[in-house]
Amino acid sequence: MEHLQDLNSRQREAVTSTEGRIRVIAGAGTGKTKALTYRYAYLVNEVGIDPANILCLTFTNKAAQEMRQRISTFVHSGDYNDFVCTIDGFCVKMLRRDIYRLGFPKNFKILDEEDAKSLAKSCMDELGIKRTEKTVKDFLAGISAAKDLTDYIDTYMLPGSKPSSDYLPTAPGKQAADPKALLPAPSVACYIGRQMKEYALDFDDIENFAKYILDHFEDVREYWQGQLNYIMVDEAQDCNADNWEIIEKLAARHHNLFVVGDPDQCIYEWRGARPARFVEFASDKDIVLDENYRSTPKILDIANCVISNNKNRIPKTLFTRRDEGVAVIHFHGKSEKEEAEWIASQIEKLHGEGAELSDFAVLYRSSYLSGGIEQELLSRHLAYTIWGGTRFFERKEIKDALGYLRLVADSGDDLAFRRIINVPSRGLGKKFLSDLEAEAGTMEIEGVRASRPLFTTLKESGRLSKIRGAEAFIEIIEACRQIAEEHSISDLMNIVLDKSGLKKMYREDQDEDRLENIDELVKSIRFYEESHEGLEVSLAEYLQDIALYTNADFKKETRTVKLMTIHQAKGLEFPYVFITGLSEGIFPSMRTVREYKKNGEEEERRLMYVAVTRAERALYLTESEGYNQSTKMNKYPSRFLAEIKRSMLVTEGNISEELWRGTRNLIHVLDEENYGLAIGRGTSAGSPAGNEFADGDGFASERAEYSSPFRIGGGAAHKIFGKGVIVSASKDWSSFLVRFTDGTERQLRASFLTPLIDDLPE
Ligand code: ATP
Ligand code: MG
Repeated sequence: MEHLQDLNSRQREAVTSTEGRIRVIAGAGTGKTKALTYRYAYLVNEVGIDPANILCLTFTNKAAQEMRQRISTFVHSGDYNDFVCTIDGFCVKMLRRDIYRLGFPKNFKILDEEDAKSLAKSCMDELGIKRTEKTVKDFLAGISAAKDLTDYIDTYMLPGSKPSSDYLPTAPGKQAADPKALLPAPSVACYIGRQMKEYALDFDDIENFAKYILDHFEDVREYWQGQLNYIMVDEAQDCNADNWEIIEKLAARHHNLFVVGDPDQCIYEWRGARPARFVEFASDKDIVLDENYRSTPKILDIANCVISNNKNRIPKTLFTRRDEGVAVIHFHGKSEKEEAEWIASQIEKLHGEGAELSDFAVLYRSSYLSGGIEQELLSRHLAYTIWGGTRFFERKEIKDALGYLRLVADSGDDLAFRRIINVPSRGLGKKFLSDLEAEAGTMEIEGVRASRPLFTTLKESGRLSKIRGAEAFIEIIEACRQIAEEHSISDLMNIVLDKSGLKKMYREDQDEDRLENIDELVKSIRFYEESHEGLEVSLAEYLQDIALYTNADFKKETRTVKLMTIHQAKGLEFPYVFITGLSEGIFPSMRTVREYKKNGEEEERRLMYVAVTRAERALYLTESEGYNQSTKMNKYPSRFLAEIKRSMLVTEGNISEELWRGTRNLIHVLDEENYGLAIGRGTSAGSPAGNEFADGDGFASERAEYSSPFRIGGGAAHKIFGKGVIVSASKDWSSFLVRFTDGTERQLRASFLTPLIDDLPE
């Protein structure tokens, strides 16, 4: 294959070692993903393997989409397939084929986070659980824990199983880390009962169902094991135990498993990633790559320097033959605004000198940090796109529009029906819905499955279907169903938007944002269709697929600056990278360091390593001083900046030595607390935090004490009153009662206090 000339000898070895268990273990930017892509092409073009026999797993849909595009440049059109996907994506494909064995229809639904929340809320209402007793999030966490620990599929979800509400056995070999986190059986029964009614799976179920089917149906297992002659996994360091189980099971017949990863880039341990499985992988051959092709030496020096501070790692250093490049800049701003202004001005300048806007990425630890930068970019008319934030597919207007498609695809989709029956308003309010529900009945002949779908009930109802709004609604759905048979999904979407009155409603409201978003939705469907060209994708399949997507997925690259969290930047590269908000407490996140101690700190440092190694040509590290509302503390430069040799950075902006001292102080406070000498408050071990943690939304608001540098019983100094001991904290940890050495006690705001470490006042 002529393209093999593009690779170095070790990459070529990785590509041509097609048989057996092969592991590529290598640092960032060394061409792991490139080797994996070429290997796919090699298998097809040189070895003659049918793409239907290759499974290629990536970590995000975005990565899968990019890989499919890259592969399509080597492999004849039509000769690559849909098995280039995420593991969840693959499980869904598997379930489409085999889920009928568990009594579910092929077009089962997938609940996204918002759907799951609405199911949880209705269960809580039914069971009389008050939100003050338990939040919806806790309820769902309980469901998730119960699903992890019990044989819930056998107990509740198989045909004929009766969702008894008093039996919830723990599966053999499983034990709850925190039994209190488990929900009482009636809650689980209620939630699953509702899921069953809609034939809906939540995210936990997808992999669990796939595993269940592989375990229990020998013919299915043999089918997939026979089908998938070659399996390749990118970013294997972030696979969790379930992922590994599925992958190993699928590879058990042909044993051709190619795994690629970098333990220094494991950033999902808080969500169950098992990097040890990758490190201990029983391989027939290991290939190590150490030449980085992505970044300049100056950027790589920073990356090597940062990661060398982690103790728990296998030492490795990257080198590159690229030109020296420009200096890495550390910018210190006097305020967040100044930091944001500086970033925007650099982008403006470089753009003026010819750089494309799409060459820039601004990365941050937590999504709430994007606001200031957005404002500055807006004021300079620099176009940008945010990946993450409110997920595109979870926005109201998007869910409403898709609600119509869901009902068109499946008239039994009651969640969709409820969502759209009165959007736009057709005068069909609560009374109408409760009449309709009464008519649909709750025929619990065999469990809950017997009740009639609302839309069918409506069509067949003599009285209700004659109400003007209802009549119109039925007509729209039925007409669209006809249209769906002859038109593409994107055309259908356009027609739905017109016929339903959604577009008109937003136009009348002059709601430009929503109008733009629904246009974007149509574009994204077109893009989806393009990237699945030649594969017949049904409406139901499209709907299943998008339930897995996030904002970042299925949007075409445009000429805009990219703003995203570091987690979302995984595997990607950009010529110019800004890492912002490099302040102690923000990055590393104080909460992670407090909750997970050394492991937390090391995972944060790997995140920093991932961020630095995204940069190709230039890297900018920025932070600012002042009070941070979210962490409720004054800002000091991040320890990750402090760990970089000063000679490796050019510093811009005026940073005082006092700020660096503040950093050292904070590190001491945490070290003392984590590794002895802790006074007063303990830390909660608990289970890994939920999704909000990676994106950082609400990171400080829930448990402010985690992100505060102060602690009860610890020392604090005030400019005027001198030194004192903290007696108590306000509820949100934004102010403290301090007892000063003269015996006075004063309640003072955190921003007026400095934490003391060594010298507790007498
Ligand atoms: P990460 O760990 O960040 O996922 P990676 O190891 O997967 O990185 P790639 O994304 O495959 O690295 O490659 C990094 C960059 O180096 C890409 O732009 C790629 O095209 C380029 N590259 C990889 N191998 C070579 C090579 N042999 N010659 C020239 N360029 C290469
Ligand atoms: Mg990669």
